[in-house]
Amino acid sequence: MIGFKFYITTPIYYVNDVPHIGHAYTTIAADILTRWHRIKGKEVFFLTGTDEHGKKVQEVAESKGKQPKEFVDGIVKSFKDLWIKLNISNDDFIRTTDADHEEEVKKVLQELFDKGFIYKGHYESYYCVGCEQYLTRSDLVDGCCPLHKKEPELKKEEAYLFKLSSFQDQLLDLIENDKLQLLPLSRKNEMLSFIREGLKDISISRKKSEVYWGIELPFDKEHTCYVWVDAFWNYITGLRKNEKFWPPEVQLMAKDILRVHSTIWISLLLALKLKIPKTMFVHGYFTVDGKKMSKTLGNVVDPKELSEKYDVDALRYYLFRGIPFGQDGDFSEKVLIERYNSELADSLGNLINRVLVLTEKNFNGNVPQPTEKDKLSELCFETMEKVNSSMGNFQFHNALNDIWHLISESNKYINDNKIWEIEDKQKLGNLLYNLLETLRFVSILTYPFIPETAENIMEQLGLEKKFSFDDLKWGKLESGKKIKRGKVLFQKIK
Ligand SMILES: [Zn+2]
Repeated sequence: MIGFKFYITTPIYYVNDVPHIGHAYTTIAADILTRWHRIKGKEVFFLTGTDEHGKKVQEVAESKGKQPKEFVDGIVKSFKDLWIKLNISNDDFIRTTDADHEEEVKKVLQELFDKGFIYKGHYESYYCVGCEQYLTRSDLVDGCCPLHKKEPELKKEEAYLFKLSSFQDQLLDLIENDKLQLLPLSRKNEMLSFIREGLKDISISRKKSEVYWGIELPFDKEHTCYVWVDAFWNYITGLRKNEKFWPPEVQLMAKDILRVHSTIWISLLLALKLKIPKTMFVHGYFTVDGKKMSKTLGNVVDPKELSEKYDVDALRYYLFRGIPFGQDGDFSEKVLIERYNSELADSLGNLINRVLVLTEKNFNGNVPQPTEKDKLSELCFETMEKVNSSMGNFQFHNALNDIWHLISESNKYINDNKIWEIEDKQKLGNLLYNLLETLRFVSILTYPFIPETAENIMEQLGLEKKFSFDDLKWGKLESGKKIKRGKVLFQKIK
């Protein structure tokens, strides 16, 4: 395991607007995996960033009377600030406007062109005269512009195309045989049938007169690079000089971008004979209180606001507790508060407080001497094994379920043993030792999900804020050591 590299990425987020809960969800998920693999002793590189070129940004900036760069700088700051707030432990943050990224993308475009994978042709697009702009096929409703209820004109524009069609068989082989693993499994089947329908070459440029906010093609100054090479190459340039991490172990994304990732991105790598990522994991979408999240409905969930209103860990916990990772889920502030009160405040917060108060009262705050292991230590081991296997399969909700089972069993252990009535010091000492050890296990196992809380538990146990899977061994807590009871975790919300 030592020296094992683990590279994980989120998509780069498009900066036409400030971050919403979907961005936070993907990024926290990547952070959970990052922290998990770090405590397992792997050397992890966690990359996130922003996708900053293109027509939409150009237009939004213009509408606000700003230069594109000035506009994106402001939005990028809101992303970076949010990641700090949410305790995201990324190793780098790539912006597609970074000079080293732009240089590298130009080199790649030239190489693809020199090798014949890029050629000059046309791309066809729908143009609505009323809107005075191009629409994509997905913009159309019954073949018409949804705003003007008119059929748009089909316009042909000169563009450079990438030979995506020539990679069809190779892609099918990679996906069928899991050399590129697409998860959950339903996504693999979906992509296979999509690719079997046939892939067409795609345009990778726009006329500069149309889109000036982009990287210039090195072989034709009249064109700027359109999305793909620019956006996907972030996964390579974002490593900066840490090439040893290539290729990614896991690339996380929402379902809307799996198609382009598993076809265009992989084909670009194949064209240049580079190693491809091992796994793409696709998560679902959120509804809010059962309704689709949208600006018009005014129900867009702001992660910044939530993290300020509640505890950051409460938000991190809530997002991965109830919804199986990989499936669609519903966001409900009411459920967040319910889980906060019952699972974080009542179960976890109370357990810590009860055990530490009893240790202070009966043993002057020193960790008592154990005499024997019992079912609680067995349950700790079982939980560790189960969590380990769930984390390996992206089943975050199962991992949390098992950890919270251990927590509620620990509370039950206190009640069943009527621990507050025990007068035999040796017996009481043993039970408390078992509970303190369990708290240490809980701290390590919850660390990827709720890192601030986990650190707080370690501190209250009088231990260093260090987290390692190897420390999940019974009896590592030394008798006689002083605990440091702090304030009660998770004050209940009325
Ligand atoms: Zn229109």
